[in-house]
Amino acid sequence: MSGLFELPEKYVELQREGRALAAQVVDIAARADEAERADPEVRELLQASGLCELMVPAEFGGRFEKVDSLAVTVVREALAAESAHLDSMFAMQGIGSYALGVAGSDAVRKRWLPAVTSVDAIAALALTEPHVGSDLRAISTRVEQRDDELVLTGHKSFITNAGDAAMYTVLAKEGDGYSLVVVPADTPGVSVQHPHQVIAPHILGDVLLDDVRVPLDHRVGESGKGFKLMLATLATFRVSVAGAAVGLAESALREAVRHTSGREQFGVPISQLGPVPAMLATSWTDVEMARALTYRAAAAAAEDPLGSLHLSSLAKVGATEAAGRVVDRSVQVMGRFGIVRGSKIERLYREARPMRIYEGSTEVILDSLAKRLVKEVTR
Ligand SMILES: Cc1cc2nc3c(=O)[nH]c(=O)nc-3n(C[C@H](O)[C@H](O)[C@H](O)COP(=O)(O)OP(=O)(O)OC[C@H]3O[C@@H](n4cnc5c(N)ncnc54)[C@H](O)[C@@H]3O)c2cc1C
Repeated sequence: MSGLFELPEKYVELQREGRALAAQVVDIAARADEAERADPEVRELLQASGLCELMVPAEFGGRFEKVDSLAVTVVREALAAESAHLDSMFAMQGIGSYALGVAGSDAVRKRWLPAVTSVDAIAALALTEPHVGSDLRAISTRVEQRDDELVLTGHKSFITNAGDAAMYTVLAKEGDGYSLVVVPADTPGVSVQHPHQVIAPHILGDVLLDDVRVPLDHRVGESGKGFKLMLATLATFRVSVAGAAVGLAESALREAVRHTSGREQFGVPISQLGPVPAMLATSWTDVEMARALTYRAAAAAAEDPLGSLHLSSLAKVGATEAAGRVVDRSVQVMGRFGIVRGSKIERLYREARPMRIYEGSTEVILDSLAKRLVKEVTR
């Protein structure tokens, strides 16, 4: 399978780095995917790779002047081809800390960004609540300024890295607006529960905030401007989910091609039987179309994340839905071998599913894209 998109050398080198890291987890990916906490070996390999330098600006130990969406996207493509656990660990270092790099106080940046870069600290972003997912303006977690402290109370749910994170970037209501606040995990009043087990390898848990007090400089940016910062995070990282989906889909397709070329039924390889060749080629089409859109959107996001959010959204929906189709077809052409627990294809099948839900579900994104489309065409 050859790529159809020429990347500048800087990104080709990052692809190589990503693939080299992914190759090291091949033998431990299955084990790590059953983990309920961050796998120490995966964490050490990520640490040693230096790839989390992509997640913070150069000023704080990062590799590039600012976080570059295309760089993150091509690395996630490589990592997700082998391990969703590794991919998630990498992605969350950026998603959980991005707002700090944009608008954090000096003290907070110095404390957390170098530690996030070196993976000495694991980061998390806490938006979702038990009764609130897509409609984030309805959150009930509150932050209040009392003298020289910020006091938080609330319940965050389905938070990636809960329990492993050293810090949570928390979205809370403050007066009539919303603020983002950095909450170190060891602050009194913070506790973590793990009420859910999910089908795919994600370290997930609920974070309870009971009268949690942090210094004023832990508010990220101005009071009431947290939603805008959260959108900036989304605009930078949403397209990287598409990258992960492309990597996963290609990996599933390769499994299907290997299996169907090596196994014969009715005296011929399955890859030549009935609709199977068309299914494989249709999946290839899905992968390459998704990759082309993803790279285009990621290149635009690298220049202007907020201005190109619609492209990132198109890529996120296009690539995650394509990955769903590709893994499903791959399982089908592998027959009973496609559903054996612990096999790579079975793992990829489970790993593909949540991608269509997190960081904006397909339907929520399509709804906002449709509004933009109608506005553009009819103005
Ligand atoms: C693996 C995983 C990791 C996650 N990690 C984090 C994390 O680190 N931090 C965090 O804060 N959250 C995290 N989440 C939560 C995630 O952000 C939410 O699942 C997501 O926002 C959707 O919310 P919900 O699941 O409550 O679905 P709901 O909001 O209940 O929506 C359910 C479905 O209803 C439909 N729907 C809802 N609203 C609309 C609309 N306006 N238009 C059209 N259809 C609509 C869609 O089909 C949607 O999928 C994670 C979730 C998963 C699965």
